[in-house]
Amino acid sequence: MIYLDNSATTPIAEPVFEAMLPYFKEFYGNPSSQYKAGRVAKAAITKAREQFAKAINADPEQISFTSGATESNNLVRRFFGENDFVATSIYEHPSMLSPVSLRLKNLKRNQLGVTGWFQHIKQFKEIDSKVLLSWQYVNGETGMIFPIKDIAKTAHKNNAYFHSDMTAAFGKVPIDVEHLDVDFASFSGHKFHAPKGIGVLYIKEPDKFRSDIIGGSQEFGLRSGTENVPAIVGIGKAAELYNYSDERNNITIGIRLDIIRLLTQKLTCDFKVLEDKGNNVPSILNIAFPNIEGESIMLLLDNKDICVSTGSACHSASLEATPTVKSFNLPPEYEHGTIRISFDENFKPDEVEYVTDEIARICNMLTEIRKG
Ligand code: PMP
Repeated sequence: MIYLDNSATTPIAEPVFEAMLPYFKEFYGNPSSQYKAGRVAKAAITKAREQFAKAINADPEQISFTSGATESNNLVRRFFGENDFVATSIYEHPSMLSPVSLRLKNLKRNQLGVTGWFQHIKQFKEIDSKVLLSWQYVNGETGMIFPIKDIAKTAHKNNAYFHSDMTAAFGKVPIDVEHLDVDFASFSGHKFHAPKGIGVLYIKEPDKFRSDIIGGSQEFGLRSGTENVPAIVGIGKAAELYNYSDERNNITIGIRLDIIRLLTQKLTCDFKVLEDKGNNVPSILNIAFPNIEGESIMLLLDNKDICVSTGSACHSASLEATPTVKSFNLPPEYEHGTIRISFDENFKPDEVEYVTDEIARICNMLTEIRKG
């Protein structure tokens, strides 16, 4: 199998798995227990919290472990009440969009939209209502990097909180939460070689926010419930090993250019790359072909044991173009012809050759069939 869907999920890395194993079998104590077995488990959580905090330049007390980015996003939303104002960009994952039921205003790609939104709500805002703006750092469908430092600044100038879903960003861009000046950030372990079902919520001022998950007050009272120690150990280790590196990034830049060059040579039809040139992570390549269904390309590649996705995995059950794809204003014949190849530095030249051969064979064949 050639796996090219790292934006959907990644395999657990061997050293991450190795680090987790003892916490299933040997060190299975409950971290809340006072005796040694409990203290060992608790120490492992403390270490993982420090590892993750260091990776994003946070303090350990600002890091809470959750079950994933879906939960982190929901928690942030629920810090705000029915009378507060919440806005998200149109690019967000459904877990940020759906819990935002009230006063939702989907914001367009440019900054003007953000300033305009604040001007707009000022007329309705009551003195004691709070405002939250949420905007992802990297778009998982296309790899676009958004200027969240500027967006956070605009939010703060307007006395609003700023949250960023950094699920698609970890490992792809350097993350320094202090420099970016975000109030909240969400992360998911399975996007960077930790297991599924473990994530992080960064909170700049954790004492200010109360959670409605009550019980044993684990995770500073934010998320009651006995901790998933092996998974926490895994996300700590993965944060250390798979944080952004220039070396990995440069390798993926080369691979991206090779894929585009080879497709240009091999395809009989043209194609468009959905990107914000110069502002895109290299390892996510979203390509639109004219008059071909992305779904057909994906299924025919699957026959060859090559995994790619059509846009984002979370939308792939629906045949409608996602808001992100729509925002590119593609000519209509391209809108349903998108595939997303999300790879890493281990995508080898012979595999790149083979995969581009197969994509070209499939697209050239489908183009011929359509022409009749
Ligand atoms: N946000 C983004 C941008 C994502 O891509 C995903 C996962 N597809 C999530 C949130 C949800 O993460 P999790 O799978 O950890 O719940």
